Amino acid sequence: MTKKSKKIDNKEYDFIVIGAGVTGLAAAMYGARLGLKTLCLGTTYGSELPIGGVITTTNIVENYPGFIKLTGTELADKIREHTESYDLVTIKEQKVEKVEKKGKLFSVKTNKSEYIGKTVLFATGTKWKKLEVPGALEFENRGVNFCALCDAPLYKNKIVGLVGGSDSAAKDALVLAEHAKKVYIIYRGEHIHPEPINMKRIEAKKNIEIINKTNVKAVEGDQVIREVILDKAYKGSTKLALDGLFIAIGHISLSDLAKPLGVRLNEKGEIIIDHKTSETNIPGIYAAGDVADKPFKQAITGVAEGCTAAYSAYEYITKESVEPM
Ligand SMILES: Cc1cc2nc3c(=O)[nH]c(=O)nc-3n(C[C@H](O)[C@H](O)[C@H](O)COP(=O)(O)OP(=O)(O)OC[C@H]3O[C@@H](n4cnc5c(N)ncnc54)[C@H](O)[C@@H]3O)c2cc1C
Repeated sequence: MTKKSKKIDNKEYDFIVIGAGVTGLAAAMYGARLGLKTLCLGTTYGSELPIGGVITTTNIVENYPGFIKLTGTELADKIREHTESYDLVTIKEQKVEKVEKKGKLFSVKTNKSEYIGKTVLFATGTKWKKLEVPGALEFENRGVNFCALCDAPLYKNKIVGLVGGSDSAAKDALVLAEHAKKVYIIYRGEHIHPEPINMKRIEAKKNIEIINKTNVKAVEGDQVIREVILDKAYKGSTKLALDGLFIAIGHISLSDLAKPLGVRLNEKGEIIIDHKTSETNIPGIYAAGDVADKPFKQAITGVAEGCTAAYSAYEYITKESVEPM
């Protein structure tokens, strides 16, 4: 167990964590507790997430043990602060561009430097899935958005649509309803399926209207979005006038860096791990959190897998008789 006074900052590490969402930060904290010299690399890469990751895009977290209710940013900040209290951890805001095997070690190249690690954890999370219909890409940042918490205030007293039906989509709709005068949830399935508490909150909001069994076929506008075209008439029209459209239809795993190393992925591109150890099929490489292959992706499950990965890395280094750096 180590809580030393001097920060370590050079190029060689026992445990290199790629991704500084809650999973990566918690894994780094555990690595340090196990005496591993740990580097945690995170950036605004891909989905433009800050350190803290995707949880920072929600303002209601009510299911992280120990905290009855807090915002995602508060939770991420608390975990980061805890991680930074260990001098064996260095957190750097850098984008990892390549990971290569060098004998028993790994080279991790970022936009700024190269690091050598005995073990590597992929905690790279996901990026937002795009809506693949005409106009959706064209109007990105001109009315088409992904982060409700970030962009909802832009739609004060406006009319917005939100595509999706999951719990996080419902939470996004609730955030939007605090600002917009009207929020349409457009969902392709029979019924949206948030947690019951969030369904009740949605039902209590007078300015949220749900359009089930309907797809957005196209996004149209001029300088900015003006309307979406639905594949089924709603209240007599397939045109729905909107000032903004939020997309909450899921995420794509950021596993591209792992693939060239021979790390096994499933058909969704998620990294396949042993759920007891967070090990991948390649010795010394681990994965945890939203990038890993599991159906239930939550902060607490990612944190648990990250901590398990740190322990597995510690065991691997010990068994391989490689002294921690
Ligand atoms: C709107 C919304 C609400 C949610 N609400 C809850 C909730 O109430 N409770 C709950 O438990 N969970 C909730 N979740 C799910 C939860 O946020 C995630 O399961 C969890 O935060 C995933 O963390 P992660 O660290 O695995 O991934 P991420 O948070 O995605 O972090 C990955 C990090 O890695 C970085 N990264 C990626 N590639 C690179 C690279 N090449 N180099 C450097 N860095 C890189 C990314 O920028 C990112 O910062 C919610 C999710 C959403 C979208």
